[in-house]
Amino acid sequence: NKLVSWQYIKPLESWNAALQLNMEKQQLEQIHPADIADLLEEMDYKRRSAFIEHLNSRQTIDALAELELETQVEIFRQMEQQQALTILAELPPDEVADILGELPVDKMEGLLDLMAEEAEGVRELLQYAAGTAGACMTTKYIRLSGWMTVSQAIGEIRTFASTAETIYYLYVMNERGFLEGVLSLRELIVAEEESVLYDLMRRKVVAVTPKETTPRIAGIMAKYGFLALPVVDGQGKMLGLVTVDDILSMLVEERDKFDAPPLLAVSARIGRER
Ligand code: ATP
Ligand code: MG
Repeated sequence: NKLVSWQYIKPLESWNAALQLNMEKQQLEQIHPADIADLLEEMDYKRRSAFIEHLNSRQTIDALAELELETQVEIFRQMEQQQALTILAELPPDEVADILGELPVDKMEGLLDLMAEEAEGVRELLQYAAGTAGACMTTKYIRLSGWMTVSQAIGEIRTFASTAETIYYLYVMNERGFLEGVLSLRELIVAEEESVLYDLMRRKVVAVTPKETTPRIAGIMAKYGFLALPVVDGQGKMLGLVTVDDILSMLVEERDKFDAPPLLAVSARIGRER
């Protein structure tokens, strides 16, 4: 039941000297990573590092994943290589690609060279343009085969759930990685344990190519009410998965980009006229 030391809790801004954070560590653990990310956004680098020391590693990673790309990049620019590697290993590959893509090339290559099996997937993601399915897809999804029974599939999900981006949809692929069908977790758990996925899955799968743009993907998700969509190449080979939360954050980023400038432009014009 350790308290966050007062020495680290400085006012966020000099004009707001009264604002201090007084919280038990236990309480800190209850704050959602997205809210922690908001706090981190407000701090300068020094305070940020001091604050992060009070988070457990799960919280640090989840909060880092929720930060604005700009802030993530600022953090990774200054971070020791070893620490950077430890954190990058825990972040989803699409986040990693976004961050590395913004770092100086020598730093990016240095990190990629030292990353384990992750590097290959990240290198692949790095080649797609920002705002496309390719750039925001994850390569961490659960791969199932059509001949599996429901209970084998559930076993497979148990094994890989902690590292997969989503488990709500289960994609059935052949041994060469071509997408053959899909079923939802709900459909799987209500099915007979001995049924075979081939007999349960939907064969008409809605998918996007890596070049598909965020607004169009959002449109498809809204139309069908899907929480995720598979990304396939021209031949139908599965490349990745885009989830609705990634698409939503990208839409929100776009909206903020387009919403902010007119306000600034107006005040700038008024300023000049005086
Ligand atoms: P819940 O809504 O509680 O998550 P559900 O089974 O209704 O459970 P939905 O997300 O509503 O799941 O999906 C509806 C149906 O669409 C499911 O049968 C699912 O297998 C199917 N489905 C999911 N993704 C695709 C896809 N990319 N292409 C075609 N069908 C899909
Ligand atoms: Mg449903």
